[in-house]
Amino acid sequence: MTDKELKTEKSDKRIYLSSPHMSGGEIKYIEEAFEQNWIAPLGPNVDEFEKTVAAYCGVKDAAALSSGTAAIHLALIILGVKPGDEVIASSFTFSGTVNPVAYLGATPVFVDSEEETWNMDPNLLEKAIKERIRKGKQVKAIIPVHLYGMPAKMEEILSIAGKYDIPVVEDAAEALGSRFLEKPAGSFGRIAVLSFNGNKILSTSGGGMLLSDEREITERARFLATQARDRASWYQHSQIGYNYRMSNILAGVGRGQMEVIDERVRQRRENHFYYREQLEQVDGITFLKEPNDAYFSNHWLTTILIDPEKTGTSNRLLMEEMERHNIEARYLWNPMHLQPVFSHSPAYLNGTSERLFQQGLCLPSGSNMTDSDRARVMDVLQRTLNKR
Ligand SMILES: *Cc1c(COP(=O)(O)O)cnc(C)c1O
Repeated sequence: MTDKELKTEKSDKRIYLSSPHMSGGEIKYIEEAFEQNWIAPLGPNVDEFEKTVAAYCGVKDAAALSSGTAAIHLALIILGVKPGDEVIASSFTFSGTVNPVAYLGATPVFVDSEEETWNMDPNLLEKAIKERIRKGKQVKAIIPVHLYGMPAKMEEILSIAGKYDIPVVEDAAEALGSRFLEKPAGSFGRIAVLSFNGNKILSTSGGGMLLSDEREITERARFLATQARDRASWYQHSQIGYNYRMSNILAGVGRGQMEVIDERVRQRRENHFYYREQLEQVDGITFLKEPNDAYFSNHWLTTILIDPEKTGTSNRLLMEEMERHNIEARYLWNPMHLQPVFSHSPAYLNGTSERLFQQGLCLPSGSNMTDSDRARVMDVLQRTLNKR
């Protein structure tokens, strides 16, 4: 390719993996907040955003927080995780799932993925629980994740968790709008967590939520998130608190975003089916897709595996080629048990997440992609795949 050709392509507007997509409805809630001077981390937008999300997810209550990571941190505190305890988590996830375990001086125990949903393998989970108990460890929580929006095998996971009486913190950060057996993601765990970070299906620029059917839990989350201030007319604290509440401005963005959640799910799913229609027949390309009718994914990101032998290319080469055309693609999450910082944590492995990481690629999946954006991505993919 000549320099001239490259330059023309670079001048095309960048196609992002997943960028914020405002509805336009956000601004009226922000203006309301300004007019009423509700700028603080409390106010009508916070209350309404919480109510709307709780209703959408079919849970009794939700507490709006500064991030999904903060929500997981508070969930673990509320479940009594202490230094020396263990928390079992999916290894194939983003670090935000497990960093809070370390904040508390507890140890994450990693469980590998199964092949169908790429999420926590229930068989390995039970094996891990049995062995941790045999070793005399206190397993205080299990954190399954619905990665890329695909629901985990929640029936099996909940039944195993119930058998050993260990509470589940459901990391639904990527799965707002997904369902399993018609039940919304965010309604499975004793506590569930959502994220509204910049690249999630809905964004408040930054934010998160803690959901539960137990109001004592959500009330406690609000208390801890506002510096754990006792009920007294002066400032009195009997516990350590945090500054984790969501601001009323950002909750206004969230309210505007919730008005279009169904539309956003539809758009993300449309991307997914577009890619599948064009690429599914290619030998050596496989998609993460709903295993059967029980699963409904928001398809936050469309992800593929590239078999180097069958395709003659690789995730790295495809990604580089897309970058040359000003298109952003990314590797899948690098499993937590491979992270230098967690190298001493126990891990129950079957090789799946390592293979997924080696072969996988996240394709541009924003709900604001146009038909011509998708065609541009497909053109690069097909030309690279045909070059072999
Ligand atoms: C984004 C994300 C988080 C953390 O959410 P933040 O709002 O970014 O703190 C946790 N878990 C998963 C799986 C995520 O994708």
